[in-house]
Amino acid sequence: MALVNEHLLKLPENYLFTDITKRINSFKVTHPKTNVINLGIGDVTRPIPQVCIEAMQKAAADLGRVETFHGYGPEQGYDFLISAIIKNDYAARGISLDPNEVFISDGAKSDTGNIGDILRHDNSIGVTDPIYPAYVDSNVSSGRAGTLENESEWSNVVYLPCKIENDFIPDIPERRIDIIYLCYPNNPTGAVLTKSELKKWVNYAIDNDALIIFDGAYEAYIQNPDIPHSIYEIKGARKVAIESRSFSKTAGFTGVRCGYMVIPKEVTAATLEGKRISLNKMWLRRQSTKFNGVSYITQRGAEAIYTPEGKKQVKEMISYYMENARLMKRMLNKTGLRFFGGENAPYLWLKAPGNMTAWKFFDKLLYEAHVVSTPGIGFGPSGEGYVRITSFGDRHDCEEGIRRICQCL
Ligand SMILES: *Cc1c(COP(=O)(O)O)cnc(C)c1O
Repeated sequence: MALVNEHLLKLPENYLFTDITKRINSFKVTHPKTNVINLGIGDVTRPIPQVCIEAMQKAAADLGRVETFHGYGPEQGYDFLISAIIKNDYAARGISLDPNEVFISDGAKSDTGNIGDILRHDNSIGVTDPIYPAYVDSNVSSGRAGTLENESEWSNVVYLPCKIENDFIPDIPERRIDIIYLCYPNNPTGAVLTKSELKKWVNYAIDNDALIIFDGAYEAYIQNPDIPHSIYEIKGARKVAIESRSFSKTAGFTGVRCGYMVIPKEVTAATLEGKRISLNKMWLRRQSTKFNGVSYITQRGAEAIYTPEGKKQVKEMISYYMENARLMKRMLNKTGLRFFGGENAPYLWLKAPGNMTAWKFFDKLLYEAHVVSTPGIGFGPSGEGYVRITSFGDRHDCEEGIRRICQCL
């Protein structure tokens, strides 16, 4: 008899987005003619930069000729892409990386989920709260999160609340945690960490022999020149941090699938006997066992992001979304509503008026403004009382959606 991984059964079946869809559908049944604007989507909407399209077309043609055919590529990724990443994303910020410290992947969700494969099942886990659900869910599926209590908290996960009271900046934990997930700029709150705030985390990890998994998926949205783009801008981080990046939000690659993970050679974790093992070597072993690389076509497309024309087109795309965010903020500023984010991230985090719950506020926005948002409780217990709206939509939809929200407040 084959037995299932029962840890996976502990995960509620994608309840958040199922619930949202159900509520939208029942609204539509009673209001068939109403035009509903969706500001809840976490996907980009602008087309992929033209340079990337051309590079992928050329790469596809390469595969059709015997002289330029490519089969299995190098496990960690092609040198052309790894060099472009090191040169533009790291060397340009004074960070030097060796090519075999970068692992090209099919995206950050896989990387931040799969990293658990190389870490023991009984490590303690810490997450900032609210947070991108994949970090906790992947730990649930490997049995590391314990059991679900009061519908939104896992017994073996330490939640580090990010609320108005602490400006959405998590306090450094008093106890030791083995593995900490940080995501900055943050999804869903839009918060960022300054260098000195990030330094506290690096120091905490050094002092407590902890591992930081740093998700920089929204790095390209940083507008303030003082905000660090990489955790390796902080001294000592090479010993304690793994950094994940993605081309999904940077260049509209959500459907193409490409990202990368940086694991410096100095990052180690221990065996039970106390022997230190390089996580870079462990990850290479894991990847060469379970992964055969990202397609040549995709990697050529990603490489084009780093050409002068690619950089220009990416910048235009990010500016489009950030201009949406600016216009949305400007309108919301005229209301008494408290909201956060939208300055270095494509997300606005709205505080529900009074003591309204996240779902109540979601319903109010749906029924009175005909706007779809995402209830904050779906991102963790501290998301209660908030909703997230995104600036990833069409300009007109963003403006019209916020205009309606302002009217219903
Ligand atoms: C969208 C997003 C990603 C990107 O995931 P991909 O798998 O690369 O598409 C990663 N982290 C966070 C927090 C995100 O919101």
